[in-house]
Amino acid sequence: MNYFDKTHVYLLVPHYFGVDEAIQAAYDQVRSVDPNGPIRFYLTPYPEPNPVDKLHFDADWTGTQKAEFMPRSSKSSLAPEDIPLEESYVQLRKHLEVPHSLLTRMDRAAQWILDQNLNPKEDTLVVLLNPYGNTHNLFCAPSPRNRNAAFIQTTHFATETLHSRNIAIAYELFASALRFRAFNEPDFQEKFLHPTDLGCVNDFSGIVQNLRYKILTADICDACFQHVQSKNIPHPFMEHLKTGLERVAAQQNNFKRALTERNPIPIRITYRFLLFDSIQARVLLSPKEMTLYKFFLSQAQGIHYHDLIDFRAELIALYQEHYTGEMDEMEATIHTVVDRWCQQDIDLSQTVSKINKKLRDSIGLQLARPHSIMGGRGSRKYIPAATSNPEPNSHEFNPIA
Ligand SMILES: [Zn+2]
Repeated sequence: MNYFDKTHVYLLVPHYFGVDEAIQAAYDQVRSVDPNGPIRFYLTPYPEPNPVDKLHFDADWTGTQKAEFMPRSSKSSLAPEDIPLEESYVQLRKHLEVPHSLLTRMDRAAQWILDQNLNPKEDTLVVLLNPYGNTHNLFCAPSPRNRNAAFIQTTHFATETLHSRNIAIAYELFASALRFRAFNEPDFQEKFLHPTDLGCVNDFSGIVQNLRYKILTADICDACFQHVQSKNIPHPFMEHLKTGLERVAAQQNNFKRALTERNPIPIRITYRFLLFDSIQARVLLSPKEMTLYKFFLSQAQGIHYHDLIDFRAELIALYQEHYTGEMDEMEATIHTVVDRWCQQDIDLSQTVSKINKKLRDSIGLQLARPHSIMGGRGSRKYIPAATSNPEPNSHEFNPIA
C-alpha cells in the first residue's frame, strides 16, 4: 500500500537570492549519490517576490540562539524596517520572519510546483531554500499543515558549524525526503522530533551546533526505526537514503579532516570552475576572478602586488582566454582592469577577497586555506597549495587550449 517508485524533491531557489556556493555544492553532492536513483533532486529557480520588506531586521541577531519548535498557528507579526539590498548571507539571516509568514510562503512554493503537474502530488516534496532567518531560529522543517512543503534556511548559522557550509544543507535534503515518506503527519513535531539529541535524523538540535551528532551517525534511533519499518518504505529508497547520509557523514568525519589538513584536497580547474571532486564542491569564478586565480597559481614563489606590472602581457592574455562579454568591448575592458591591477588599485585586493570568500563559503575555512590567495599586507601573495607541495599532482592544473 505504501509502495512508491520515485520521490521528487524540488529545491526552490528564490530568484532574488539565487544559487550561492553552499547551495550549489549541496545540490551537486546529493545529486551525485545516485542521479538515476529513486530520490530525484531538482534545483529550480523560483520567481517569488522578495518578502524582505515585510521582515524584521535585527542587527544583533547572530543565529546562534537556541532553536524553538515551530508553533502550529501563529498570528504575531513584526514591524518591517528599511534594509540595504546588497547583503552577505550572514546579513540576510538577520531579517527575521514569523512562522506564520514562512508557512504561507512554503504553501505558495509547493503550490507553484504542484500547479505545473510535473509529477504525482503524493510523490512530490517542495523544499523552499530560504535565505532569511526566522524568529524561532529553525534551520529546516516540514510544514505542519502542508505535507508537500518544507523549508531549509540556507544562510542559517547551522551551515557554519560544520566542516563546510554545504554539509548541513545536503544532510537536510536527504533527511527531508525521509520525513516526507515516513514521518509526514501534522503533529510531526510532538510525535517524532526529539528535544534531546539522540543521534537520529529526527533530533531537534535546539543547540544548533549539536546538529553534528546526527550528521555523523547518519542513522535513526530505535523508536524511529520501528516507525519506519511500519511504513513499509521500498528498499531502493532506503538504500539511496543510507548511501546519501553516509556520504555526508564521511565528509564531516574529523579523522578524515585531520588527514586532509596535512594534504590539501585536490583542486581541478576548468574554464569557469574550481572543482573539488573529493567533496563534490565547486566554485564558480567570474572571468576576471579566474584570470587572477590562474595567474597566482602560475607564480610558484608568490609575487608582490607591486611586481604585477612586469606581468601585464600575461595577465591580458589570461583574461582574453576567459573573457565572456561583448567582443567590441573586450580590449577596452581587459586593459582597464589589468592596468588598474598593475597600479595596485583597490580592485586588486577586492578581487582577491572575493575569490577567497567564494572558496570559504563553498568548502569551509579549513579546506579553503591552502587554495586561497594568502600573504599579509606588503608581503608576497601566494596560493599555499601551489607553492608548498612539491608533488606535481598536488594541484591538477588544466590550462584551456
Ligand atoms: Zn529518532
